[in-house]
Formats: sequence, structure tokens, C-alpha cells
Amino acid sequence: MTAGARAARGPLRFAVVGGGMAGILAAVELRQAGFTDVVVHEKADRLGGTWRENTYPGVACDVPSHLYSYSFAPNPEWSHVFSPGAEILAYLESVARSFGVEKHVQYGSEVRRLVFGGGRWELTTARGDRDVADVVVAATGVLHHPSYPVIDGVEQFAGPVFHTARWDHSVPVDGARVGVIGTGSSAVQTTCALVDRVSEYVLFQRTPQWVLPVGNPPIEEERRAEYRADPSSMSRARGELATLFEEGFANAVVDADSPQVKLLQQVCEANLDTVTDPELRQRLRPDYRAACKRLIISPNFYDAIQRPNARLVTDAIVRIEPEGVRTADGALHRLDALVLATGFRVDRFLRPIEVIGRGGRSLDEVWDPRPWAYLSISVPEFPNLFMLNGPNGPVGNFSLIDVAELQFGYVLQLVEELAGSRAREVSATMEAARRFEEERTQAAGKTVWVTGCRSWYLDDRGIPAVWPWTFTRFRERMARPDLEDYELVG
Ligand code: NAP
Repeated sequence: MTAGARAARGPLRFAVVGGGMAGILAAVELRQAGFTDVVVHEKADRLGGTWRENTYPGVACDVPSHLYSYSFAPNPEWSHVFSPGAEILAYLESVARSFGVEKHVQYGSEVRRLVFGGGRWELTTARGDRDVADVVVAATGVLHHPSYPVIDGVEQFAGPVFHTARWDHSVPVDGARVGVIGTGSSAVQTTCALVDRVSEYVLFQRTPQWVLPVGNPPIEEERRAEYRADPSSMSRARGELATLFEEGFANAVVDADSPQVKLLQQVCEANLDTVTDPELRQRLRPDYRAACKRLIISPNFYDAIQRPNARLVTDAIVRIEPEGVRTADGALHRLDALVLATGFRVDRFLRPIEVIGRGGRSLDEVWDPRPWAYLSISVPEFPNLFMLNGPNGPVGNFSLIDVAELQFGYVLQLVEELAGSRAREVSATMEAARRFEEERTQAAGKTVWVTGCRSWYLDDRGIPAVWPWTFTRFRERMARPDLEDYELVG
């Protein structure tokens, strides 16, 4: 962008909604692109998004830390191949500090309403503050709003009940009888971290999971010193990891018949064979293919569930009673605390914010019955609103940091149209959005996610809501926007 072009439009004002991984990224990149009028609205009193909210025992990222890092802020200090959540939170905060993001953040600023008019967005926050912005970047996360199961009697339980993403650290779990509902990544990490601390551990499984046994060794000081002294060795390591992850996993799961998917199946089956009790092994065996649901990465889940104080309950939960959980076989599982590892409402995105686009159209209406966005970034008639990790993106099978960086590189190119005064408003055309929707739903039919399981990848019709092509294709699509697919106004 030329300085002259920017001056013609006047400096753009940006509102970034959310101060998690993607919001921090947006603020850093906007500053680096020369935009200084940037406000990050963060509802909480601390940055970090998912890593601030998820503090359950064992929380970690199952994407290797050197991949789950910003490309502009490699971190030689990662302690483990998959570093714990608290370390990721500290990393995000340190990036925000060292890249000057903090001074752009308004804490306690929960955006409730966004209304487009006269080429600008008007924002209203929960405390009634108002602001205007030329561009809104929605960085509100995907796995954000906890999903609470509808189970009879849950409010009657005498002990504490909480969701993994709302862990109540005041509850003494050591030596207690603890039940966990769910067998997703959150439940499995919790299981491995908690089983040896409690007197009885009861895991309520509705659906068994395939588990890929990937170890999590510490990164030795010698290696960290090498990364510190020679950052290029760290970028090489990152590059190798990225290739391995992309070719061995991300690109493979979009083809249910790929050799990599077959290999994943074999490795998961061999892992399940390590369970010694044949009856337990049978109850842990999924009846669908590996990687259909998001794979669980854990080197020690099967060890944990075989501990003498651990019990896997596979009878359906019928209700919660004051003393514990009643299952369909009539048993009452007496508990002191109950944890809901029941996942997230993944169709929310920036909602519950009320978003009103051009002509008074509400995003809620446009997203009824399900959310969609052209290339996961832009919704027609909602100009200058760009989403990071929005609907239909490649969530779940690659580093979401890489995803957000690629998306933001693309968004910045659209922003250049505004900054250069070539347009006042930019949003995807309906035609492009329809074409994308058609192509992606068709491609979704070939993925491993539709081979016979229920998962959070699937929408209300059973069609995967996530990017159904390779990560390589995503990278290519994000390289440069095709302006033919956008409506540029003014
Ligand atoms: P999830 O994968 O959606 O798992 C939710 C679990 O709760 C499932 O086992 C589900 O059973 C069960 N469940 C939900 N409602 C239930 C009910 N009414 N009765 C009984 N069981 C019920 O959620 P998550 O474990 O929080 O993970 C979500 C995603 O977050 C992951 O897939 C991953 O992308 C990310 N994550 C990553 C990590 C990591 O990096 N390791 C850690 C945590 C989360 P069904 O399977 O039968 O539906």
C-alpha cells in the first residue's frame, strides 16, 4: 500500500473481536502492515482465549508446539513436543507484550452488537460503550461456547458439576470420587492427569474413540540451547514437522481411501490391542473408522483407564441423582464431583453477538439453519467483516495458528482495497459464496469424516462443516483473493 493511497481514504479504524490466539495475531499483523488505529475487544480481563478458559488437569495442545507457534514469533523455550496449556497461554501473552498488542486491548469489553451502516460498523459492548470501525475482524474462536448435555436431574447432584472449559479449581479432587462424562480430547487429557489423584475415577463413555499413541517427550535443554543460538535450526525443525503433519495427516483425512488413513487405522488398532482385559478392550473398540471422529492423541489413555481405581461405564446415563449418576442398567455411580467433558457448540462462531449487515439483515437469519461463509472468511452483505477460523475452515486437522495466519494474509489483501480507497465496502458475492458452498459440500462426501460416525465436524445434515480439501489447497486459496469473487462498493 502506498502512503498516498492510505491518506486518500484516511486511516482505517479496526475492531478486532476477541483477544485469543487469532485476535493477537490480527493486532500484530495490522501493526506490522502500518495500521495503528486498532482496538482489540476482549470480554475477559486477560488475553489468551481458549488457553485462558481451558485449565483442566492435563490440558495441552495436540499439535506440536513448534507448529502451534506464530511464524513471526518462534519459541526456542517450548518444554515439550506438546506443551501444556499454561505454557501456551504464557507464550501468547508474551507475544502480545513484545509485539505491542497490549496497548490496543480493551479488557472487559464484550461486544454485543455490530451494525453496519454508512460504510462503517457500529459496535456496542455489554457495558453500553459504543465505537465505530471501518473493519471488523471476528477472532472469536470455534471451540468457545461449552456444550452442556441435557441430562435429567443434573441440577439435583449434591456435589459440584462443571464443564472442562470452566474447571472449578476450588473443588478438592484429590482423594475424591470423580466422574467425567465424555471421551473427546478434553476427557482423555483429564483422565490421564486425574486418575492417579482421585480415589475412584469413573469415565462415562457414549462413544468409544480411536487413540493414536504419540508420546510427549520433553525438549531437552541441549536442543533448546541450539534453537536459541541458531534460530534457523528451529525453523528447519518447524518446516519438517509441518510437512510431516500436512502430508501424513491433514492432506490424508480428506481422502477416506488414502494409505495414510489405513496406516492410522493400523496404528490405532495395535494401540487398542495393548488393553489386556478383552472385555474392556471390546468396550473401548469403536465401530467406525479411525480419524472419522477427530483422532485422540494420547500415549497413556489406555494405561489410565486400566488403573485399579478407574472404571469405564458404557451403559447410557439415564439421570443424575443427588448422590451420583444412574445408568440404564440400574446402577448408581456414587460421586463427589462430576465433570462435563461434553465439548462445544461449534456452530456459534461470533454469535451471540447480534450482527446486522447491509439493509438491516441479521447474521442469525442468514445463518439459519447453519453458518456458512465464503472461504470461511466473508459473508455476502456483511461488508468489511472478516472472520478468522470462521465456518467451513480447516479446523481440527492442522495448526489453527497456521490457518489464522494464512487467512489473515488473505484478509490484509482485501483490506488493501479499502486502504487504497479502491472501495469503501468489500464482501464476497452471493454467487461466489454459493459456488463455494456447493463445491465444499460435494467434496465433503469423499472425506473420512463421513464414513459412519457422529462428530462435531458434521452439521445438522451430517455433512462435514469443515474444509474438505487438502491443506495444500487451503494454502493456495489463501495466497491471493480473486477480486471477481468480491463485491467492491464505493
Ligand atoms: P468433543 O470432542 O466434542 O467430545 C465431547 C464428548 O462428550 C464426546 O465423547 C461426546 O460423546 C460426549 N457427550 C456429549 N454430550 C453427551 C451426553 N449428553 N451424554 C454423554 N456423552 C456426551 O469435545 P472435547 O473433548 O472438548 O474436544 C473438542 C475439540 O477440542 C477436540 O476435538 C479438539 O479439536 C479440541 N481439543 C483439543 C485438545 C488437544 O489439543 N488435545 C484438547 C481438548 C480439546 P459422543 O462422542 O457420543 O458424541
